[in-house]
Amino acid sequence: MARYIFITGGVVSSLGKGLASAALGALLQARGYSVRLRKLDPYLNVDPGTMSPFEHGEVFVTDDGAETDLDLGHYERFTGVAARNTDSVSSGRIYSTVLEKERRGDYLGKTIQVVPHVTNQIKEFLNIGDDEVDFMLCEIGGTVGDIEGLPFFEAIRQYAHDRPRGQCIFMHLTLLPYLAASGELKTKPTQHSVKELQSIGIAPDVLVCRSEHPIPDKEREKIALFCNVRKEHVVAAYDLKSIYEAPLAYHEQGLDQAVLDAFQIAPAPKPDLSRWLDVYDRVHNPEGEVKIAIVGKYVQLEDAYKSFKEALTHGGMSNRVKVKVEWVDAEIFDSEDAAPHLEGYHAILVPGGFGERGTEGKIKAAQFAREHKIPYFGICLGMQMAVIEAARNVLGIKTAGSEEFDHESGEKRFEPVVYHLKEWIQGNHMVARKTDDDKGGTMRLGSYSATLAEGSKVAAIYGTTSIEERHRHRYEVDTKYRAQLEEKGLLFCGMSPDGKLPEIVEWTDHPWFIGVQFHPELKSKPFAPHPLFADFVRAAVEVSRLV
Ligand code: GLN
Repeated sequence: MARYIFITGGVVSSLGKGLASAALGALLQARGYSVRLRKLDPYLNVDPGTMSPFEHGEVFVTDDGAETDLDLGHYERFTGVAARNTDSVSSGRIYSTVLEKERRGDYLGKTIQVVPHVTNQIKEFLNIGDDEVDFMLCEIGGTVGDIEGLPFFEAIRQYAHDRPRGQCIFMHLTLLPYLAASGELKTKPTQHSVKELQSIGIAPDVLVCRSEHPIPDKEREKIALFCNVRKEHVVAAYDLKSIYEAPLAYHEQGLDQAVLDAFQIAPAPKPDLSRWLDVYDRVHNPEGEVKIAIVGKYVQLEDAYKSFKEALTHGGMSNRVKVKVEWVDAEIFDSEDAAPHLEGYHAILVPGGFGERGTEGKIKAAQFAREHKIPYFGICLGMQMAVIEAARNVLGIKTAGSEEFDHESGEKRFEPVVYHLKEWIQGNHMVARKTDDDKGGTMRLGSYSATLAEGSKVAAIYGTTSIEERHRHRYEVDTKYRAQLEEKGLLFCGMSPDGKLPEIVEWTDHPWFIGVQFHPELKSKPFAPHPLFADFVRAAVEVSRLV
């Protein structure tokens, strides 16, 4: 039976609950425990798959094909534990399951209510995989007191009550604002937030207090007294230069010790922090710097490209350089020359995306990189743009485009070099879709294998010819022009095992020009950078040495 740690937040949002949870997971692993991290989100969407990246940040895809919150990306990057479909749930999913059951008649004529039916459904979700790990860390989205979060808070209260004593603890994150005029840290918002939590029957065991200034002993004592937690369980969270310092910083502040104390685990196993010390060293002692452009459409919100940025950072760590990521809005040069916007970068990455907006700019970015021999990494839509660019400018098919754009505009304007995929093999069965299917969860999603061509650049980078990577797309590069493109040097060097779907393309006469249909950024970790990102940054370093 796993021990459960429920992580909640108060005072304000965006305190870094996800990061604190991920860092705590990493610290428990460092002490020899197995962990799994989960996110319970109070919003009503069934999953974040249909939410705009502008609003919600990136969608993180799991091996088993779930579209989840970007916090699951943090969890995976810090613990290396591959997230699953059952590691994320929203009110929308809970309610739709309850309503399905009601329609099926599972509740036998009862009146369906938030308590107990919705809360029971949440508790059922919490139980999944309970016998697999030592610690289950469950983060509740939003802040205490939010109307939509109430069923989740009620469910975790009941859950802790149902289990044997000492099996569950509550960790609460708050903010200590600093009043410059009086030079003081204020504890009142934290007191109010804990009071709110207590009013719904939850007493926190550990308090994590975000603060821009050192927390004096006197304030710590005050918080402990008024919030009814032990003084050593009031843990400071200070701002960090890099998120990858979080495990060491939290360890220094005593978070893992406080958690083990709260479970009365004594003596606590000694931690092995070598992995994080190495990560720290690589972040803080780079031997150079490269400048990489991410040419995309959702550039106003950095969270929309979270995993890309992190994977580039990991690539930098593996080469011991700092990667300076700059965001370039592809739309700006949709109808003008791209060169002035792209000169000066050591490499260009075109990430995934949906819809036609900004695609002409991305095609120009691919052309610029190909012609100027600048390293180019095209991911998902970025690969599709690279193939369209080759079809237009190398094969001379001027109207080459993607069916996605025609579907969006409702008129036939393009010769589809990228087409809508309606049938494919997943494992050992066939999946079928229609053009007008619901938008939620109907893409080619999750982990698929690919076979790489012997002797190709990518096979050398991966060190193998058989890989598994995560997908999230509806459209696919057509093999119709494969022979013509390969003749010109654009090699289809990665294919689905049945040989039908192009997974990777590379320009053979270019130092580093690779397009992948999948999302390698989702699997990169600071302590195990993804080989493609590590090699892409290496290629950028080479360019930086030439200039
Ligand atoms: N819009 C493209 C498709 O659906 C690419 C998706 C992506 O980049 N994730 O195929």
